[in-house]
Amino acid sequence: MSVGVVEVTELAKSEEALRRSEAGLRLALEAGEMGSFEWDIRTGELRWSENLETIHGLPAGSFGRTFDAFKGLIHPDDRERVLGAIGHSLETGSDYESEFRSAGSDGEEPRWMLGKGKVLVDEGGRPCRMIGVCMDITRRKRAEQATQEANRRKDEFIAMVSHELRNPLAAIMNQAALLDRITAGDDLSARACAAIRRQAQQLASIVDDLLDVSRLAAGKLTLERTTQDLAALVERCVQDFVGRRLLDEHRRELRLSPAYVSGDGPRLEQVVSNLLTNALKYTPRGGRITVTVDRQGGDAVLRVSDSGIGIAPELMPRIFDLFVQSDRGLDRRDGGLGLGLSIVRRLVEAHGGRIEARSAGPNQGSEFIVRLPGAVALPAPGQAPGAGAEAVPRKRILVIDDNEDAREALVGLLEHAGHEVHQAAEGVAGVESASQVCPDVAIVDIGLPGLDGFEVARQLKARISNLRLIALTGYGQFRDRTRGAEVGFDAYLVKPIEIDAILDTIASR
Ligand code: ADP
Repeated sequence: MSVGVVEVTELAKSEEALRRSEAGLRLALEAGEMGSFEWDIRTGELRWSENLETIHGLPAGSFGRTFDAFKGLIHPDDRERVLGAIGHSLETGSDYESEFRSAGSDGEEPRWMLGKGKVLVDEGGRPCRMIGVCMDITRRKRAEQATQEANRRKDEFIAMVSHELRNPLAAIMNQAALLDRITAGDDLSARACAAIRRQAQQLASIVDDLLDVSRLAAGKLTLERTTQDLAALVERCVQDFVGRRLLDEHRRELRLSPAYVSGDGPRLEQVVSNLLTNALKYTPRGGRITVTVDRQGGDAVLRVSDSGIGIAPELMPRIFDLFVQSDRGLDRRDGGLGLGLSIVRRLVEAHGGRIEARSAGPNQGSEFIVRLPGAVALPAPGQAPGAGAEAVPRKRILVIDDNEDAREALVGLLEHAGHEVHQAAEGVAGVESASQVCPDVAIVDIGLPGLDGFEVARQLKARISNLRLIALTGYGQFRDRTRGAEVGFDAYLVKPIEIDAILDTIASR
């Protein structure tokens, strides 16, 4: 065989190999629902692989083969972002990547694309070409959107259900409190009432946790910060547990030194009481619970440790995730939904702090350590804890609430506490009644038919001087409270609430 024939055969072989590899590449691109592109940056010419037009929903041969034609294909809402990403790659030489909608040509729903590219430079280091792929990610994007939508609906549903549960719970608690007072001296009734109130309180705290979860998920939590001594706050929480006889069956040790933080008092109490509740729940009777507060570096550090059932190493990395619980018996004696620690972590983080859990393993006890940035300022003066149950002077009170059961129960309780009470079932009647009786205190529901509670408050404030205005409502969102303060409410109580808290609020000026 002559040399020339050998060369021709070799050439034919390598052309055949090239064709095969190109065909293979085309098939692979098609299988991945992607096409390739090559952009000559200097001339603006943009070459597409055949299938890119189909991927973009364009008729074959219709693409203008220039960068400007491509710009026109990007959905107007995404254009600036995509061009920004391309510009950034050209400037920095980094890889280009961007997700965008392609407007297509057929007026159908826009398709989602993922573009990725590499920048090539000339001898002078200037970008001259970009080579890359573009793939159809419409299915993935729609699935993501459907998941987000389902998630949003779930959060809305949780928020709505929790909100709807508040009114009946408030009525149950108030009626039980009323029964308790009118049947005073009857041991059996007292025990039954106490059980109803305990159970309703438990339901109320589940509802609160659910509301917190949806608020935190939606990023709607706002902190009302003041300077707090963490040690005093912890002491108050522990005393509350002692008062409710929750710590009777455990040995406890407290070592609290002053440590100031800038925080939302009720939210920090929620953190402490969640950790204490868990320590109690997961530590058998007779076990030890230790709570310490001190300063370390610039931080205020709270430790809640116990000698209880401990935490298995495999649970540790997920312990602060939503709905995570250790395996438990079918009786679910420990109850709970696995919300508490997740809420605690988010609250701590919202304060700029960190939380960690430690345990040497099952039955070795657990320790939760919260670090919050320390504050240097001294606490605001006059932040005495709750007013207590001293004798209260008789007041003239007007209750405006459209929920008949809740209103009747509240009226009964207030009368039983020695107050003169008037009532109205809606806003206009409430304002009229107020003009006649001139109350010292008005307790106003927010979700009233006709005139809502905010408008009622505005009118009452304008007509009656020295009126103490209390909102009593299921709407506990921060923006509602802010609005409440704007229209002149002196206090904003969220249902369900214990009657003693209402009486304290009426008494304090
Ligand atoms: P819940 O207590 O309602 O299940 P949490 O989010 O408060 O939800 O706690 C999640 C899980 O972490 C608990 O179910 C329990 O398994 C574990 N855990 C929390 N605190 C402790 C503790 N002090 N000791 C042992 N396990 C704990």
